Amino acid sequence: MHHWKKLSKEAIRKRVFAALDRNVNFYEEQVLGVPASHLDSKVFYQDAPFLQDAPFLSTLIRNPNHIGCHTLGTSEHFFSGTQEIERELIALCAEQILQAAPNACDGYVASGGTEANLQAIWIYRNYFRTELGARLEDICILCSQDSHYSMKKAANVLCLDLAAVPVAEDSRSLSRQGVAATLQQQKALGKKYFIVVANMMTTMFGSVDEADCYTEVLEQEDCPYKLHVDGAYGGFYYPFTEAQHQLHFGNPRVSSVTLDAHKMVQAPYGTGIFLIRKGYMQYANTKEASYVEGEDYTLIGSRSGANAVAIWMILMTYGYWGWKEKIRVLQERAAWFSRELQQEGIAHYRNPYANIITIRSEHLTRSIADRFGLVPDRHAAPAWYKVVLMEHATIEHLEPLLEELQAYKEVQVG
Ligand SMILES: *Cc1c(COP(=O)(O)O)cnc(C)c1O
Repeated sequence: MHHWKKLSKEAIRKRVFAALDRNVNFYEEQVLGVPASHLDSKVFYQDAPFLQDAPFLSTLIRNPNHIGCHTLGTSEHFFSGTQEIERELIALCAEQILQAAPNACDGYVASGGTEANLQAIWIYRNYFRTELGARLEDICILCSQDSHYSMKKAANVLCLDLAAVPVAEDSRSLSRQGVAATLQQQKALGKKYFIVVANMMTTMFGSVDEADCYTEVLEQEDCPYKLHVDGAYGGFYYPFTEAQHQLHFGNPRVSSVTLDAHKMVQAPYGTGIFLIRKGYMQYANTKEASYVEGEDYTLIGSRSGANAVAIWMILMTYGYWGWKEKIRVLQERAAWFSRELQQEGIAHYRNPYANIITIRSEHLTRSIADRFGLVPDRHAAPAWYKVVLMEHATIEHLEPLLEELQAYKEVQVG
């Protein structure tokens, strides 16, 4: 696999400004037909000297609209400079993080993981209807009990039913028997086509689904399915810690992946990433988007080109090896914390390739959780609380929590 190289600050600056120069310039050119412009000049700096060293802020102010999908067909020519950066970003994520062949994927920067998951389910719903004559009631979203609630949202918006496969209480893992049992129930209800969503790190546990659990059972039963990977949490983490996984485009059964740069990549909000093998994006085409050059294949419509630029800048600042090192540091902290909890006999879940540690609620009080900003699985009656090892969550911050947990344990035992 080719590993992307890091770029210097100056190289990044030059590249982004060169892209902006190839976009339309609302200040100097005749652009009379679009309901778009630079950010309001009474409110936002337009030419402060520091902006020359601030490619992301400059992009925000010039305000390119990345409406549509730029990896297929044509796109709005007004913003072709920064669209090129988005295309490069999509290729980088698909090919260098998720093992796709060159030019094998389409994709775009979505508003977030929710939209990217909806986009995938929307596409497969339309695929089953168009290609296999499916009715809405024949189609089922198949995911796990630990899947993100955006799957429920997608089911509601797209008028589809959803079946959640239970996971084991302690290992948070799926089983073939569990998938088979859920599948039998759904077949009995008349479901024939399955939109499967496999997790690459769940939101609450950081657990990862074994894709074969779904695909082996579905293939045995001769059920048509499409497999989407929800890597909103883990997409920029797990591929850098576990080389052996199956949730990438090198696995022919995977047809699309969601990533979220506004989680582990610390990009601004509005930086979900949707990636899909070529040949599917067309099922989400809205031909009636006739005033948009190249039409629209996305859920969102207008969106800021600055988001793509922000993600690209971060990934280029690190390079592949720099990114791997950054993740390595988070792994060290997670391993340390998990080891300490283990020694104290504090029951918790941790996937060894993930930076989430989820502690059984009997080991802490709500006041401890509140003081350390821990997040429960359900606010009403928590069974688990999670700790997420982000850049700001250093061991110095974990030590006081550990002390509190030890003290609480002694009180309970005593
Ligand atoms: C956060 C998350 C989402 C939703 O992402 P948003 O960016 O909040 O829309 C979807 N799936 C998983 C696994 C997540 O962790």
